[in-house]
Amino acid sequence: MPDRRTVLLAMGATLGLGEAMARAGAEASDAYDEPDAMYAALFRQPHITLPMVGGTIDVTFADGASGIDRRLVVDWIRLAGRAMIAYFGRYPVDRYRLLVIAEPGETVGHATTFGYAGPATRIRVGTHADATAFANDWVLVHEMVHTALPDLPRRALWLQEGNATYVEPVARAQAGQLTEEDVWRQAVAGMPGGEPRPGDGGMDGTRAHNRLYWGGATFWLRAEVEIALRTSGRKMLRDAMRGMNRASGGNAATWTPEQLMAAGDAATGVDILAGLYEAFAHRRVGTDLPTLFSRLGVIARPDGSVRLDDRAELAWLRRRICIPS
Ligand SMILES: [Zn+2]
Repeated sequence: MPDRRTVLLAMGATLGLGEAMARAGAEASDAYDEPDAMYAALFRQPHITLPMVGGTIDVTFADGASGIDRRLVVDWIRLAGRAMIAYFGRYPVDRYRLLVIAEPGETVGHATTFGYAGPATRIRVGTHADATAFANDWVLVHEMVHTALPDLPRRALWLQEGNATYVEPVARAQAGQLTEEDVWRQAVAGMPGGEPRPGDGGMDGTRAHNRLYWGGATFWLRAEVEIALRTSGRKMLRDAMRGMNRASGGNAATWTPEQLMAAGDAATGVDILAGLYEAFAHRRVGTDLPTLFSRLGVIARPDGSVRLDDRAELAWLRRRICIPS
């Protein structure tokens, strides 16, 4: 059991920092705040097993999780699992454990993922969450994506959070749970905030919230585009992701980012990730997002929605991102 425990938080896309901090404060009082306590509950309390293609999801309702609708919760977990299968071609880890903690409220709450004693997530669910709240949830798929890749040193947290931020909506779109417009609306709204500001250097070691999540997501979008262009669309980022997942077995392993990039490049057969990582990690790298979105045929409207232009130069590539294979 390694001493270092990387804590991967789902605070990116929709939580303001104030809300995230308030939730973090509330969590401090939780009986399962310590990851060892979370694992003890997962190993000792009763669970139900959901068989998925390629693995299983073991669900433990913490202390019975009184007040939550178990049928809705199980349907939501299966749906998230199906998004993972669409993206990875199978459930990405053999055994995933999920601790569901009931809390007052109408939404899915805060979640944290660990790997040192096996891929596992602790997630809070509001006792008044309804089917719409579960359908709108992005947190669970985000956490599941974290389990697919090996754990990394703290300096590379931006790679992990950026990866989950980028892959989560794409996986849900591939499974028919989001539209292509949903995916790009979020990217257009989020990615500019992750661009380097005056004084920012390379991404390694960054603690800035927007840099971690959306700056990291931009790295993975650029990797996606480069892989597709270099292979004339024969390979996409998902092929690199599947390779990294299969080689590592998921987040119970700890790798270096350099190992991870090498495994991804080996899976696609083109050297993209290693060089792109080296540049983003150590130097200030900006991205001309307006030009990139324009080439992809993503046109922002003033009201925050997007229009997709299938006549754009890289429309073929954009469409392929959300099509399962
Ligand atoms: Zn995360």
